[in-house]
Amino acid sequence: MSDADNLKWSYEMGADEAISEEAQDRSVKQEKPQEEPKKTSVISPAQNNVMASPRAVASGTRQVADGCASLKELEEAVRGFKELSICKTATNTVFADGTSEAEIMFIGEAPGAEEDAQGIPFCGASGQMLDQMLSFIDLERKKNFYITNTLFWRPPGNRRPTPEELDICRPFVEKHVALINPKLIVLVGGTAVASILQSKDGITKIRGKYYDYNNGYLESAIKTTAIFHPSYLLRSPGQKRVAWKDALLLKHYLIENNIKF
Ligand code: URA
Repeated sequence: MSDADNLKWSYEMGADEAISEEAQDRSVKQEKPQEEPKKTSVISPAQNNVMASPRAVASGTRQVADGCASLKELEEAVRGFKELSICKTATNTVFADGTSEAEIMFIGEAPGAEEDAQGIPFCGASGQMLDQMLSFIDLERKKNFYITNTLFWRPPGNRRPTPEELDICRPFVEKHVALINPKLIVLVGGTAVASILQSKDGITKIRGKYYDYNNGYLESAIKTTAIFHPSYLLRSPGQKRVAWKDALLLKHYLIENNIKF
């Protein structure tokens, strides 16, 4: 294969990012690097790309989230957080978009390439499809909904968030929900369902139903529903009919329950 063929093949296999400044010829046997004497100095886990125990980091994020009394404080804390390797590989922290006074809050999975480049959630192809679908039921992020993700940084190559990453970010997301305090949460896709509802049931079972969601920062439960992720709809257009049914149900729920939109 030529270099160009190699590159095309790698790209098609999902390797869409360089991991090193310098190209490496892996067909040439690499010299084994000389072993460095062991250092005893303490370095931050994120510096080493190795995390402290996820439980320890999650209890750290819990403490930080506990101390955030406003949306601005939470956003600053999230932007300053560096304890996951995805914080270092991402170009931007993708915090949220839309109207913070809205009564409807959408929570997706994690930023993709376009979101990472622009620092705005759901601004790529799947976000455009979501916005278009929601516009048909009179929902517009600049006017009447708020949107964020379960992770604030793009996992490299758009891989799925790991359970550890979700656990570590969950305190931030829980505080985020409490500070927005919406009347309805809409989870976008299976990862958001698994992380927020901590449900073993997949999106196909959960979608279109309405649940009571609570967390330690809330004074009372918030109604929560789920819809298919738009990237799934882009891959499986046959499911758009079901998604449209859920959207109509959502609009009906907003009207019935006097939710502002
Ligand atoms: N998919 C998500 O779940 N969130 C985004 O922000 C973009 C794509």
